[in-house]
Amino acid sequence: MSEKKLKEALENKKISCPQCKKPINKYEKFIETCDSVWDGAGDSNRTLESSGSKVTLICANDGCAWKDRTEYWEDMID
Ligand SMILES: [Zn+2]
Repeated sequence: MSEKKLKEALENKKISCPQCKKPINKYEKFIETCDSVWDGAGDSNRTLESSGSKVTLICANDGCAWKDRTEYWEDMID
């Protein structure tokens, strides 16, 4: 998954805060994680599919201090 997809999800308010139920506004420290099992046989698509990413999501709505570091942000997209 890519940072671009995460940005678009936030811009379109598609990730909701589990605490206040409003759209999450910010994120930080996005990293791609490369725990893939690519065997070097030239199938680079497989490498992309099996790699993940990790990000700290920050609610940043008034009165809400929720933030979470997660690998599963994609599951939170509506
Ligand atoms: Zn919140």
